Amino acid sequence: MGSDPRGRLIVDLGAIVANWWDLCARHAPGKVAGVVKADGYGLGAAPIALALHAAGCTHFFVAHLHEGMALRAALGPGPMIAVLNGFRPGDDEDAGLTPVLNTPGDISAHAGRRAILHLDTGMARLGLDAREQATLAADPALRATLDLAYVMTHLACADEAEHPMNAAQLDRFTQAAAMFPGVPRSLANSSGLFLGAGFASDLARPGCALYGIHPTPGAPNPMRQVIRLEIPVLQVREIAAGEPVGYGASWHAARPSRIATIAAGYADGYLRSLSGRASADHGGRPVPLVGRVSMDLITLDVTDRPEITEGAFITLIGGAGCTPDELAAACGTIGYEILTSLGARYARSYTPA
Ligand SMILES: *Cc1c(COP(=O)(O)O)cnc(C)c1O
Repeated sequence: MGSDPRGRLIVDLGAIVANWWDLCARHAPGKVAGVVKADGYGLGAAPIALALHAAGCTHFFVAHLHEGMALRAALGPGPMIAVLNGFRPGDDEDAGLTPVLNTPGDISAHAGRRAILHLDTGMARLGLDAREQATLAADPALRATLDLAYVMTHLACADEAEHPMNAAQLDRFTQAAAMFPGVPRSLANSSGLFLGAGFASDLARPGCALYGIHPTPGAPNPMRQVIRLEIPVLQVREIAAGEPVGYGASWHAARPSRIATIAAGYADGYLRSLSGRASADHGGRPVPLVGRVSMDLITLDVTDRPEITEGAFITLIGGAGCTPDELAAACGTIGYEILTSLGARYARSYTPA
């Protein structure tokens, strides 16, 4: 092939912004932040946040300090950038990031500084636990050292609407947050936005739904798809019935077959565990994977697809039958992991909002 045989990852910023608007309409009058941790779930935090900010989004969440610093450089002053994992005072230099306070130590370290207080209500991960919350409730002087933009909690089971954890966490949060009258509250993630009016708050924090991941498993996905990963065919070869394909000779042709080899593999985040379990898409019709996914190459059965020749582009992720959620289901993970695994070797482009 003469041209650059790299895959191309096309991120539809218009679809992300449309998904954000959709969530805003569901959550009104509460605001909707953009969660852009892990480089915008692997899709590019800066271009995504710029597009959301241009659409009116004024609150962003990242996980790490360095993600917040990079995002501030991209966005400039103005929008709130909250760091879920917290950071030490001064470490954000003059970037004006908003720390999320997760421990009593965070509370004293950031005394007097505008922050978000995280109350754990059932994750046993970050945030003040029930005992620490009781201590704070009994100590008005300690509470007076806080300057809170929000109190927040995080739902553990929001993607299972019937799960009793949802109501239990809402109840615990409502009780704990009552020690901060007048302080705005932040509750729902993507799936939490679909749990009903009781889960509305001043600021929802969706991530995955912005990126097209299904927030309400079991019902039709209300979100627009956001990515298309297109991979060029490097070679097409004809093999006889009975011949094997790929490492481990794990697949043998049942008939004379045409095998297309495309330029992506598990080093590009296409999980090896998808071997033999998934299909790609060409022209809206599935093209089955055969053999093992290798580091840089994937083989497809194109016996019935004479139009697929060297140089054709195959949609590996984000086409018919191969959305991130569908691929995740095929190999026992979640769409989030498909997105955040997307590799660095693709030529990335963004269709403007
Ligand atoms: C990741 C995260 C979110 C976003 O969750 P989604 O399920 O992707 O919508 C919200 N809040 C916290 C605390 C998170 O860690």
